[in-house]
Amino acid sequence: MQAVRLHGHGGTDQLQLEDVPLPRAGEQDVLVRVHFCGLNHSDLNLRRGTYYGLEEATVQVGWRQTPVQFPLIPGSDISGRVAAAGTEVSRLRVGDPVVLYPYVACGQCPACLRGDDHLCPTVEYLGSERDGGYAEFIAVPARIAHRIPDGVSFEQAAALPVNFLTAWHMLVTRGRLQPGETVMITGASGGVGSACVQITKLMGARAIALVGSREKAARVLESGAEAAVVVGQDDLSAAVQRFAGGDGIDMAVEVVGAATWASSLRALRPEGRLVVCGAVSGAIVETDLKLIYLHHLSVIGSTMGSPAEFQHVLGLLATGAIQPVIDRIYPLAEADEAQRHLETRGQFGKILLQVTDIAR
Ligand SMILES: [Zn+2]
Repeated sequence: MQAVRLHGHGGTDQLQLEDVPLPRAGEQDVLVRVHFCGLNHSDLNLRRGTYYGLEEATVQVGWRQTPVQFPLIPGSDISGRVAAAGTEVSRLRVGDPVVLYPYVACGQCPACLRGDDHLCPTVEYLGSERDGGYAEFIAVPARIAHRIPDGVSFEQAAALPVNFLTAWHMLVTRGRLQPGETVMITGASGGVGSACVQITKLMGARAIALVGSREKAARVLESGAEAAVVVGQDDLSAAVQRFAGGDGIDMAVEVVGAATWASSLRALRPEGRLVVCGAVSGAIVETDLKLIYLHHLSVIGSTMGSPAEFQHVLGLLATGAIQPVIDRIYPLAEADEAQRHLETRGQFGKILLQVTDIAR
């Protein structure tokens, strides 16, 4: 089969389109013919060797710190059709349209047994710790393959997993977002940020979106934000005051990290909470702890979410309650160009690779 594999840390020249053996599917696995694979910032960090801002050449989940096994097929957001199913798989049949929950967990530890696969100590992330979707086929345990509901396209399905699962778990499960609350969203035109804008509105809360340009401000207002602030041009504290009143906002969503961390903390009302799921501008920050204890603030970490939450956001997609925005679709052979596009941060919404033809 054709696959784009990453051969080492560095530039996009480390990504090579090549012929590789078809992955082998076990008795509890499905072989999926990949139609679309979405790009994430984690793809870039993996290539650059700056994954989670940690030591070069390692991927860290929980306490584990594992060297990246090259060559590796990247890609975490995957939709396609079941091409073959193992003998012990009864829930899915050949031809079924599926989207993959991006984590493969052990299924046996206390976290897995209560349905928290994302907290499994040996969890593997598709496209980082095991091969992902920049390939015509992928073999995965059938339990992570969720049937795509009627009316949802393969493109929409591939734009959903990482962004909307992360946004839902962070805002609703971890942040306990309530109707009527105010939420400040950094990086609001990015994948997770724009998902946060949509979910904030869906929950009956109000979003103030931080973006990098006037054009992106117009786009986030169209997608449901009540106010937009262009970072570096608009007066953030004045905008927060106008939006939330004198006390400050109820919740800040940190996707950006170092560049916006201090202003996100300062924008919070007493007892406000800051939820953090990313650090694209840098993971090391300086924090005035007085701000946290004198204002009774909560800082809450979050990464991805559970299979049940994944099924829930898939249901929201089916009803049209959420709508992933797709920026541009590249053929698999142009995966390097697609990554360069993501790197420039010029996009609004999801960048996808079309890996195989849907019609065939
Ligand atoms: Zn487990």
